[in-house]
Amino acid sequence: MVGIYVHIPFCASRCHYCDFYSTTALNRRTAYVQALKQEIALRRDEWKEGVRTIYFGGGTPSQLKAEDIADLIKRIDAKQAEEITVEMNPCDVTLDYLQTLRTAGVNRLSMGIQSFHNERLQLIGRRHNAEQAIRAVSIAREAGIANLSLDLMYGLPGQTMDEWEEDIDQLLALHPEHISTYCLQWEEGTQLTTMMEKGIVEPVDEEIEMAMYDRLTDRAATAGYEHYEVSNYALEGYRSKHNSSYWHDVPYIGLGAAAHSYDRQIRRWNVSDLEQYIAIMADATQTGVIKYDFERLNDTERYNEYIMLSLRTEEGIELSKLRNIKAIEQYLSEGLLEQENGYIRTTQRGLHILNRIIENIIT
Ligand code: SF4
Repeated sequence: MVGIYVHIPFCASRCHYCDFYSTTALNRRTAYVQALKQEIALRRDEWKEGVRTIYFGGGTPSQLKAEDIADLIKRIDAKQAEEITVEMNPCDVTLDYLQTLRTAGVNRLSMGIQSFHNERLQLIGRRHNAEQAIRAVSIAREAGIANLSLDLMYGLPGQTMDEWEEDIDQLLALHPEHISTYCLQWEEGTQLTTMMEKGIVEPVDEEIEMAMYDRLTDRAATAGYEHYEVSNYALEGYRSKHNSSYWHDVPYIGLGAAAHSYDRQIRRWNVSDLEQYIAIMADATQTGVIKYDFERLNDTERYNEYIMLSLRTEEGIELSKLRNIKAIEQYLSEGLLEQENGYIRTTQRGLHILNRIIENIIT
């Protein structure tokens, strides 16, 4: 059983902090959906053993018509899928839209709320406001969505600890089954980074960012959420099955421009360009061969991948799989890693410097 990721690279506008691959060429949606259908038809043998999860991510998948998403799900033909998730912008949520998705088998929504403060949302270039986000959650519940994931961002310019507490209050009041949180990254070339370089906005102090992360972690735990991955919290029974595949080295298939696939040996990826992707799929329909890039992972790369992904999870690294115990002894003595029941995992303090720990452990 595999997980299928479908990349929908369209956004109605670009958020000021974002450097993901996405496009505002909304007039190309029909051609793109057609290309996706071609890719599904050509690759369907890859999931003949069954599909466990489907995840529509982006970009903004809710920029497609609900009927198009329903059609793609039907063509993937995953009647037995346990989890079908669609990422949505709160602005795009309507009862009709969600009812069409529900009928097609979608049972999980992931909404990028980011903040409940309109000043902050405007600054980072989000399309929605706080009121729309709250209304979108209520419409999702009305449509019968019982598994809802909400994203919040911290470390936003001007965001204070008090404001973050209010964001957490509002988030928890909405009772999502799943929460994801991300610290703002100052990516090169984005509008927000340019504003920072010109002195218009200032980054939040790193100590405050860490305190914000800890505050959400503590409050989520008190509210009954399991902190099962560095950025993710879930009520019991609501961990993301799709994302858990990535973290537990389960093969996955990526469809669409820039989407990656992985079968434990080879990682392959489609071209990160909308027009080239459409042309490649049109060509493949004639030739039966899809052009893509790939790399074969050697033993060391697979080991490093395992370390990187498992240290992000609550479960951690299986001690027997660790090749260099010396590299972690210092972290264990400093309380940044801990050992329990044959596993090494990152402590809450260690999560603050996770990237540094990983760099020192990988070979
Ligand atoms: S909606 Fe998501 S993918 Fe699109 S610009 Fe904003 S952050 Fe980036």
